[in-house]
Amino acid sequence: MITSTSPQCPEDIVVSVEATEPAAVRVAAEAARKAQPDWMAAGAAGRAKALGQAADAVQGAADELAALAVREVGKPLAEARGEIGRSVSILRYYAQQPFEEIGATHNPSGAGLLFTTRRPRGLVGLITPWNFPFAIPLWKAAPALAYGNAVLLKPAEPATACALRLAELITPFLPAGLLTVVAGGAGTGQAVVEQADVVSFTGSTAVGRTIVAAAAQRGIPVQAELGGQNPAIVLPDADVEAAAGSIAAAVAGYAGQKCTATKRVIVVGDAARFTDALVESVRALVVGDPAREDVTVGPVIDSAARDRVLAAAASVADAGGRLLTGGTEVGDLGWFVAPTIADGLPADHLLECDEVFGPICSISSVASLDQAISRANSVQHGLVAGLYTRDIGSALQAANRLATGMIKVNAPTTGVDFYLPFGGVKSSGYGSKEQGKAAVDTFTSVHTVTIEAGWQL
Ligand code: NAD
Repeated sequence: MITSTSPQCPEDIVVSVEATEPAAVRVAAEAARKAQPDWMAAGAAGRAKALGQAADAVQGAADELAALAVREVGKPLAEARGEIGRSVSILRYYAQQPFEEIGATHNPSGAGLLFTTRRPRGLVGLITPWNFPFAIPLWKAAPALAYGNAVLLKPAEPATACALRLAELITPFLPAGLLTVVAGGAGTGQAVVEQADVVSFTGSTAVGRTIVAAAAQRGIPVQAELGGQNPAIVLPDADVEAAAGSIAAAVAGYAGQKCTATKRVIVVGDAARFTDALVESVRALVVGDPAREDVTVGPVIDSAARDRVLAAAASVADAGGRLLTGGTEVGDLGWFVAPTIADGLPADHLLECDEVFGPICSISSVASLDQAISRANSVQHGLVAGLYTRDIGSALQAANRLATGMIKVNAPTTGVDFYLPFGGVKSSGYGSKEQGKAAVDTFTSVHTVTIEAGWQL
């Protein structure tokens, strides 16, 4: 049984459904494969129209969906609304992709015609996390569908209701069975990997690695977007107050539960002024009921997540660091943790080298941009890095040398435009990038066609 409960009110059961058994995943896979030729037969215009109608349906239900994200995954209302807006944009963007070219013609070595073309891979298996319960399933499913595939979507258990409602809204525009949500846990996810022709996964690095290995064992392509341990570097010439405000939101917005959340701040030079400003900005964030318009920091997803943040905070003093703010639970009901900032930790402390998925961050200081870049690059993850400076030369150095898939200057590590490639390097990503036109590489295969001239056709 899969039961999702509201993190701000754990007694509130949002949905309870049977987990999809492997045999049922097989049946859904067969139905999806059967529907896929009809979807291809709809042609570019037919697929574009259906995705446009799906966008209208999601937009029409925007208030209801935002409220569901607030209730099921504790996303603050303003962010939940933003996620629905992004979801609609993703659908509209991919509704146009069937009209784009799918290959190129080349000069043949003899007489004739030489060209490449792309084909859908077939059945796409999507395994998604709970933290963007609409946008992540859609930034995978929309391109998968646009390029002509069928889809099985295995959402994370804490976001089951969001995924089921999303499917109710968009499947009326698709051939029956083309897209199915298979609710469940790890076993259901494994069954999806067993059935799919390609897998796209987003989630933790540990789980992602098992999925990459299982897909490789089957010889199917796989893409994985994984955890982050994202640094923000603050240079001495930065606007300290503005940087502190931007970083505070990136540390603790949605209780730090974004793969792109800032987890480390590396200050070049004397960190005292920036540290005070960051602590002040973090303390000014409103923690509370995510349904309220003014709240930035809602609960973490469950009691285990809360305990991980509290344990990390509790370990700071023993490691020789200082806890500057936070480190405590907030309120009696729900999984709320005060935004937490530490400093003075060694480079091998958990908060300096691994992802703790909550509103917690560690500050360190170094003497130069060179040292800051090497400290930033010293971890296994490589999703996104930020730099605050007024100097274009420093910005360009960071752009060339930070070992992350995304680099942001004078902007929070969180929030990346949906029409550009998204993803990490090192332990943060595997395979091709997501979003924008990059998605075509995951969801299609390339074929080279040679037609010799001079034969009777
Ligand atoms: P998770 O890895 O626990 O779960 C992700 C998905 O995998 C869920 O659907 C889960 O049910 C499924 N799963 C778990 N074990 C499985 C197995 N053995 N076989 C098949 N499927 C299995 O991650 P989560 O807690 O849902 O999400 C938080 C994590 O996701 C964080 O590490 C965060 O950084 C990461 N994340 C990354 C990105 C990105 O784009 N890089 C975006 C959002 C979240």
